Amino acid sequence: MPLDAPSLIAELLRDHAESTAQGFLTDAIARVGRVAMVSSFGADSAVLLHMVAQIDRDLPVLFIDTLALFPETVAYQKDLAAHLGLSNVQTITPDRTALFERDPEGLLYQSDTESCCQLRKAEPLERALQGYDAWITGRKRHQAATRADLDRVEMEPGTGRIRLNPLADWTAAQIGAYLDAHDLPRHPLVARGYPSIGCQPCTSRVLSGEDPRAGRWRGTEKTECGIHFIGGVPQRARKADAA
Ligand code: SF4
Repeated sequence: MPLDAPSLIAELLRDHAESTAQGFLTDAIARVGRVAMVSSFGADSAVLLHMVAQIDRDLPVLFIDTLALFPETVAYQKDLAAHLGLSNVQTITPDRTALFERDPEGLLYQSDTESCCQLRKAEPLERALQGYDAWITGRKRHQAATRADLDRVEMEPGTGRIRLNPLADWTAAQIGAYLDAHDLPRHPLVARGYPSIGCQPCTSRVLSGEDPRAGRWRGTEKTECGIHFIGGVPQRARKADAA
């Protein structure tokens, strides 16, 4: 029987109004059907990856390697997956032909970050998510004004898929406490001044007192990489909206 996504979303919101993130995630994975987690293996990622590993180590974890990541992220992905015993991490990369045609020199980010994120993140992820009913994200309300109303579970506009956001209401302090409580390995760049980590060309160090995401696409209005779709089109946000 096809998944009745709107009904299931309503049930999950009703049944888990007071649940912990772990309780919500455990039940949601059991009820949703074909589900994958999408992880950047960034600064906060170990929290949700640890929860998933406790529930089902074989759950598909999709890691988007844009081929422009810090080498530290690629190494951390391997180390953390091994540490947690995750057995089904799938590395997703941009289409080689599309890269050759649209970014042959690897410098598209200098002139058009939207097109670059579309080519290196949004399109590969959309291909990878075909066949899934739902995906798990690590998005949190406190990260940006564009995420302020984020629910734990929502319909992905335009695709019919469900998005599970177990950490939607978590604060930065809760993330830090969970990492400490479970003695989880940190991304090595966090200690070097990168509290939010994306592609190497588009991520800079953050100074004391700055917003943690200030180092992402610094000097531009861009705040989101565009992997969250509206009607099949990547969602955009202006940096001013996220202040
Ligand atoms: Fe390209 Fe920068 Fe987007 Fe990475 S973050 S895909 S390098 S524009």
